[in-house]
Amino acid sequence: MESFWIDSIKNNIEFDTLNEDKETDICIVGAGIFGLTCAYYLSNLGYHVTVLEKYEIGEKTTGHSTAKITSQHGLFYDYLIQSYGEKYAKDYLEANEKAIKNIKQIIDKEKIECDFEYQNNYVYTTKPEEVRAIKKEVLALEQIGFQNCDFVTKTGLPFEIAGAICFKKQAQFNPMKYVMGLAKNVVSNNGEIYTNTTVTDVKNEDGLYVVNTENNKVKSKYVIIASHYPFINFPGFYFAKMYQSTSYVIAVDTKKTLFNGMYINFTNPIFSYRTAKWNEKEILLVAGGDHKTGQPTAYQDSYGILEKEVKKYYPDCDIISKWSTRDCIPIDKIPYVGAYSNIMPNMYVGTGFKKWGMSSSNVAANIIVDNIIGKTNKYAYLFDSTRLKPIKNRDEMKNMIVQSTNSLFLDKIKKPNMKFEEIKNNSGGIIEVNSEKIGIYKNENGKIYAVKPVCTHLGCLLSWNDVEKTWDCPCHGSRFNYEGKNIYDPAFRDLEIYNLDT
Ligand SMILES: Cc1cc2nc3c(=O)[nH]c(=O)nc-3n(C[C@H](O)[C@H](O)[C@H](O)COP(=O)(O)OP(=O)(O)OC[C@H]3O[C@@H](n4cnc5c(N)ncnc54)[C@H](O)[C@@H]3O)c2cc1C
Repeated sequence: MESFWIDSIKNNIEFDTLNEDKETDICIVGAGIFGLTCAYYLSNLGYHVTVLEKYEIGEKTTGHSTAKITSQHGLFYDYLIQSYGEKYAKDYLEANEKAIKNIKQIIDKEKIECDFEYQNNYVYTTKPEEVRAIKKEVLALEQIGFQNCDFVTKTGLPFEIAGAICFKKQAQFNPMKYVMGLAKNVVSNNGEIYTNTTVTDVKNEDGLYVVNTENNKVKSKYVIIASHYPFINFPGFYFAKMYQSTSYVIAVDTKKTLFNGMYINFTNPIFSYRTAKWNEKEILLVAGGDHKTGQPTAYQDSYGILEKEVKKYYPDCDIISKWSTRDCIPIDKIPYVGAYSNIMPNMYVGTGFKKWGMSSSNVAANIIVDNIIGKTNKYAYLFDSTRLKPIKNRDEMKNMIVQSTNSLFLDKIKKPNMKFEEIKNNSGGIIEVNSEKIGIYKNENGKIYAVKPVCTHLGCLLSWNDVEKTWDCPCHGSRFNYEGKNIYDPAFRDLEIYNLDT
């Protein structure tokens, strides 16, 4: 099943694929919420923008989000004060609160019908022993003077909680209707958007950038890499600073009147809740099952755990849609926004939104727009994309290095412990034939699909994802379907296919 946000804009405007060379002021790579927000602001300022999108607009992370627009990024402000100090935490909060207002302003100005509604946002726990952490967060917010939050013990959820911190006047919307609204405005400002157009590299030639696609090129003074996970490895080195984390979402017709508010807890298993509109009905979205992308997971730990949880409270419910996606998590938990690298002037990036990209993408777009127009942005220092700070999150860094070393080198020389005949129908795994590793998937009828299970991004050994029937990269989170077609960045090339008959 697909994300129902994507269905909600079907039959809307269609975009062409790029089939000639172009010149533009600003070339934006990627048409998710971040790329299109940049395109919206810049085209409004009179710049000619050209957006190049590998698939269709918004269909990747943005269109699979739960789309809560909030400055409450989990229990985060105590962490920020402890790690970076009071001023930093205050500015981070202010930047994200402002982003909520900016989004509402765009929606009102452009009359974008995207089911925007204000809602309170809660981080809750059902465990009395975790209430201390919530109270600590309340104190942290008091310390930085935030008036807009409360500690509460009662919510609209259909179960008792031990405590929660509530941020008032946050919001939710339909992210696909919103990005489609942005895209329409870009086009009416003479901007150009091309879909099914993959960017393969960006080169600097005589002070201008040449953005190469598979068949054409776009020349521009400025480039914004809005591709979610930056696909240019050197310079930038984003692959060494972030990992990807997958989460699952189920859309549920509970057949009951639903509650107000958006909710998430903060220790595993994670459950996130919000309501949404679907065919004039109010439905419930439940998300969770988080794990590092590329690590094997089972149905009961992904969609299964969400279904089991929701059926406790709504036994007669129907699951109307389910989907998964992933987001980039920086090791120090702070997005990367600004210059792509110190040696690439006029090339920008916004990434690492750590599953809070609805507000963060607006903050990021404003920082980059201000940079281009030469205006100081008060919040730019928070997210400095070229930062070289000592990594505070050492355990995460260690895990990432161990995982990458295994997938890049050690696992490749290990003999797989699976034999061809052990792979069941509707499942997959890696076998070895003549010292060569082959990724096999057998469909429900036993038809065999064979690929070279090596990621086309940086060469890590892929792992089989039996829940989604995909090949996933444990190093940097690229994903491929069982036919070898690349479906998620940072890789953009398909896998090599083996024909087992020859
Ligand atoms: C399950 C889940 C739930 C979430 N819920 C929330 C939430 O409630 N609130 C919140 O704030 N955030 C949430 N997030 C995070 C949020 O959805 C993301 O941070 C945000 O959508 C990222 O937007 P983006 O524009 O950077 O990426 P994307 O939407 O992925 O856009 C990037 C685009 O670039 C394109 N692209 C990639 N490579 C190339 C290339 N080589 N050439 C051309 N185009 C390319 C892709 O096709 C894609 O369309 C959630 C994330 C997950 C995983």
